[in-house]
Amino acid sequence: MSFDFDESIGGVPLLDLAAQWGQVEADVREAIERVLSTQRYIGGPEVEGAEADVLEYCRMDGAAIGVASGTDALLVAMMALDIGPGDEVVTTPFTFFATAGTIHRTGAKPVFVDIDPATFNIDPAKIADAITDKTKAVVPVHLFGQCAEMDAIKDAVGGLPIIEDAAQAIGAEYKGARAGAMGAAGCFSFFPSKNLGVLGDGGMVVSTDKALGERMRRLRNHGQGAQYHHEEVGGNFRLDAIHGAAVRAKLPYLDGWTEGRQRNADRYDAMFAEAGLVGEHILALPARAPERRHIFNQYTLRVRDRDALQAFLRDEAKIGTSVYYPVPMHLQRCFADLGYKAGDMPEAEKAAREVLSLPIFPELTEAQQRYVVGWIARFYGEG
Ligand SMILES: *Cc1c(COP(=O)(O)O)cnc(C)c1O
Repeated sequence: MSFDFDESIGGVPLLDLAAQWGQVEADVREAIERVLSTQRYIGGPEVEGAEADVLEYCRMDGAAIGVASGTDALLVAMMALDIGPGDEVVTTPFTFFATAGTIHRTGAKPVFVDIDPATFNIDPAKIADAITDKTKAVVPVHLFGQCAEMDAIKDAVGGLPIIEDAAQAIGAEYKGARAGAMGAAGCFSFFPSKNLGVLGDGGMVVSTDKALGERMRRLRNHGQGAQYHHEEVGGNFRLDAIHGAAVRAKLPYLDGWTEGRQRNADRYDAMFAEAGLVGEHILALPARAPERRHIFNQYTLRVRDRDALQAFLRDEAKIGTSVYYPVPMHLQRCFADLGYKAGDMPEAEKAAREVLSLPIFPELTEAQQRYVVGWIARFYGEG
């Protein structure tokens, strides 16, 4: 089957932040200027404004606490829930390292539960077996921008607190609720490759529980109550004012960007079908689970000959792709002492061998997508 595309495009990056900059430049520069003109770099109206805006965006009543990264959002949430040595926290092995790394940093033990192969999210049916009398919390990850199966997770964990790792999922929905608003705490990242990125590292943790919110706010600033009076040991987990200002400037664009990502995902699906690649070569297109709003932080395929395809796209066509994630958490060297071995999490291990994420940024053009699909067809001898 032949699949027409414009070869002169010459390449497509995995992410093109310059394309977004063209839209937001005036607003972001104005926001930076506000910070410079007041010289208020720590806390203040930009951080508080960003917190209020994100809370409203998540359609939540509660607390939002700007922090220095998505990693710190997770850490602060765990510290506020008194997770520590001797405790266990149940999570997915198929995620970015921060999910498991923060559990370890509290002194608790990460306990991994294999994934649902359709969505790549934690499999709720396997959670109950992982819960012991030491389990202190469960951390589902809304991977690639699609919410985990929250109702089934809630049923499986009884009354245990759920910390949502929503780092890839700001604006994603499950049965009408926004990611981050469904658990005890929700954790966002504003790393530049996330759907809402700032000018460096940044994050936010949200909660409908105001008391927990106050505890997290205190932990963010060395556990300080009255100035220089420390109620407990926290850390410097603060979001800089300049990044708060960037959140405020960019948030109004987020729904438009999400629509762009969704349109691009639908276009890829149609193009892969048109090229006749689905089934034999492309083992699976991204699944859309029911009753979700998938925000497509990533568009992730399962493919045959993944490593060769990735190298071919890079070397022959200058197409940027990425493997999220090549090594599941239970097989990371730093967690060797947890005693897991290859074969323990077969679905996560299979996903790690098969997944490939394609360019999906909102400004991607139809012609660029045809170029990507056309080169994939060529690799498989169908182009
Ligand atoms: C990006 C990410 C994080 C960490 O966010 P940072 O801002 O990079 O610290 C945590 N969990 C997941 C699933 C992520 O994708």
